[in-house]
Amino acid sequence: MLSTMQDVPLTVTRILHHGMTIHGRSRITTWTGEAEPHRRSFAEAGARATQLANALRDELGVNRSDAVATLMWNNAEHVEAYLAIPSMGAVLHTLNLRLPAEQLVWIVNHAADRVVLVNGSLLPLLAPLLPHLPTVEHIVVAGPGDRSLLDGAAPQVHEYEELIAGRPTTFDWPELDERTAAAMCYTSGTTGDPKGVVYSHRSIYLHSMQVNMAESMGLTEKDTTLVVVPQFHVNAWGLPHATFMTGVNMLMPDRFLQPGPLAEMIERERPTHAAAVPTIWQGLLAEVTAHPRDLSSMASVTIGGSACPPSLMEAYDKLGVRLCHAWGMTETSPLGTMSNPPAGLSAEEEWPYRLTQGRFPAGVEARLAGPGGDFLPWDGESAGELEVRGPWIAGAYYGGASGEPFRPEDKFTADGWLKTGDVGVISPDGFLTLTDRAKDVIKSGGEWISSVELENALMAHPEVAEAAVVAVPDDKWGERPLATVVLREGAKADFETLRAFLAESIAKWQLPERWALVPAVPKTSVGKFDKKVIRKQYADGELDVTHL
Ligand code: ADP
Repeated sequence: MLSTMQDVPLTVTRILHHGMTIHGRSRITTWTGEAEPHRRSFAEAGARATQLANALRDELGVNRSDAVATLMWNNAEHVEAYLAIPSMGAVLHTLNLRLPAEQLVWIVNHAADRVVLVNGSLLPLLAPLLPHLPTVEHIVVAGPGDRSLLDGAAPQVHEYEELIAGRPTTFDWPELDERTAAAMCYTSGTTGDPKGVVYSHRSIYLHSMQVNMAESMGLTEKDTTLVVVPQFHVNAWGLPHATFMTGVNMLMPDRFLQPGPLAEMIERERPTHAAAVPTIWQGLLAEVTAHPRDLSSMASVTIGGSACPPSLMEAYDKLGVRLCHAWGMTETSPLGTMSNPPAGLSAEEEWPYRLTQGRFPAGVEARLAGPGGDFLPWDGESAGELEVRGPWIAGAYYGGASGEPFRPEDKFTADGWLKTGDVGVISPDGFLTLTDRAKDVIKSGGEWISSVELENALMAHPEVAEAAVVAVPDDKWGERPLATVVLREGAKADFETLRAFLAESIAKWQLPERWALVPAVPKTSVGKFDKKVIRKQYADGELDVTHL
């Protein structure tokens, strides 16, 4: 028997319409670096998104299913693109502005982007690539920047504001199949070519609803979220669409992502929530330790992308800011878990839950695959590779304009689950604790050592600013840990002291023998520790290694 319910497609168009009408007074505030930030209501942003859709179709000839790229910071215009492009049936393709040039070129060509919306300040990055981007027919420039960099460029150049000015604020939005492509994002390709994940209208709609659940980020119109996580990093974790559903105000840092301006915008604009990777919060902590600022408006912060050191959580607790751990990937839209402890616990009882990556929300099914192809119990002890499935989880990668979607065996199981490449345990009540990425785990004499556990323990030392641990080859054990450490200014701790400190919480056989001081831990394009680079530095003899 079929149901008797209406079959209304779940589309971004509906999110746009809802936000601009029901929550028309909510605001997007964009930091400008000047005395006053720029403020725009959801009603205005929605109207401008509609004008943009008209311009893209009528002036630039964008058709359904065409890929339209953005190379932009987090700002109101980028949100407009997020709403306009999918709603008209085209595909929003966010470009990671921190990728090396050759990867950006590869990605734009693979996606066959016809248009690039770019912030003026990023023209020095885009202009030199243009001769290698034959599919790009139009460039649309928004915000300050030197336009002369585009002199002689093959694509047609347009000014964002001029392009949308005077266009209709209505559009005959197509009634889209909810399974059509709405947006795409490429994984950063730490191994092999980048892989494109194509989100559907339905996946974005359902993911946005989950982001908004009280058990997840749980924000309302009374909140303002500081969206530090870039819009090119898995759709800013879903926030631009989720906020349009619930009227949560957005505070957008644009290109002012350094700790100083972030501290200033928090103190002045008083956001109640923020989202970013741990390295951002490490940097901000160092800043406010040196120059105190009031961060206490941020009742909650969603932190994810890599493991959150417990010491960081403790430090923010003292500032009245509660960090809430979340886990996800480009392939999972990204919300996969969030760590809100079960109800009714004391602060002390909550603590071990807060340290986990969190619980799976409705919509994300999980299982742990053991080494022999068996599935492991959720007993908090059996460690295996996490596999997930659900309506906002990728089932394949984009095959390019002429290719079929593909499902590499190391990423998808025969029965359609995503293999995350993350290793961990799940407690009987469904809380996930990741011990490592499969490729970062240290395999020492048949036993596994968690690099994350060593890093967290090291970063709990008061004189350690950052620490990254990688596996390096060892004649006797196969692999052993190498600890690379960034000390705080004026720190006096030596390696013996740090090793003794580790020995207080880590089994003796896991303690690193190899140590190196480094000025900074290398980071990936989205701000995670880049362990591949550290392993290469070690292999190339570039690190000054002490053996204890
Ligand atoms: P990349 O693979 O380039 O880092 P993603 O942003 O998709 O791109 O990264 C997803 C991975 O990031 C996950 O598979 C996991 O290893 C790691 N990750 C994300 N969130 C967390 C977290 N809260 N704790 C530990 N690792 C995390």
